Amino acid sequence: MAEPLAGRHVLVTAGPTREPIDPVRYISNHSSGQQGYAIAAACAALGARVTLVSGPTALPDPDAMTVVRIETALDMLAAVETAMPADVFIAVAAVADWRPAAPSDTKIKADKSSFATLPLAENPDILKTISHLVSGRPGLVVGFAAETHDVEALATAKRVRKGCDWIVANDVSGDVMGGAENAVTLVTEAGSEHWPRAPKGEIAARLASRIAEAL
Ligand code: C5P
Repeated sequence: MAEPLAGRHVLVTAGPTREPIDPVRYISNHSSGQQGYAIAAACAALGARVTLVSGPTALPDPDAMTVVRIETALDMLAAVETAMPADVFIAVAAVADWRPAAPSDTKIKADKSSFATLPLAENPDILKTISHLVSGRPGLVVGFAAETHDVEALATAKRVRKGCDWIVANDVSGDVMGGAENAVTLVTEAGSEHWPRAPKGEIAARLASRIAEAL
């Protein structure tokens, strides 16, 4: 089999992050990790050395790659920085934008006063951080955008705002999060391409071959 990504290091983030409130509670989201794991596997199938930095998911570690399991956005950023340098960075993770500013070491009592406010701190934007690296920036940086409306316009703006090369935009108005299929629009400097709705594995294979062509 042709291995067009042989000799390349592809770094992928996937899954949600989990931001502790106290030892029993957290802030997170519905990301299953499926799309990110499928992309990591598709890149490995094309011969890449793959590092997958994953938040908590129910999925087993894919074969033929290094998997780093983390919980929080801060841990995800640290794991990504440790895994660098990379030829390609693909940020698929649904990183929580906010974390409780001061997680409690003990369980917070569930009376009204203790949950009246939960001070939050902003998490680092991992995609933006890697996109803006002055030295050691991966040659190709790919971000994801999950939108429920105006998918193309929002993704086009997001590509510029994040400083990444490509955005893979998901229409999440249906059952995409946690579902087996995905409908995406690929936004590059040249414009946008609509890909037909397909299983996440097919979307991943198509993206991996596009990456191999672009390098
Ligand atoms: O801004 P938004 O969360 O919609 O951006 C989504 C893209 O940015 C995804 O590629 C996601 O992995 C990445 N991201 C990130 N770190 C964050 C927030 C988003 O890497 N804190």
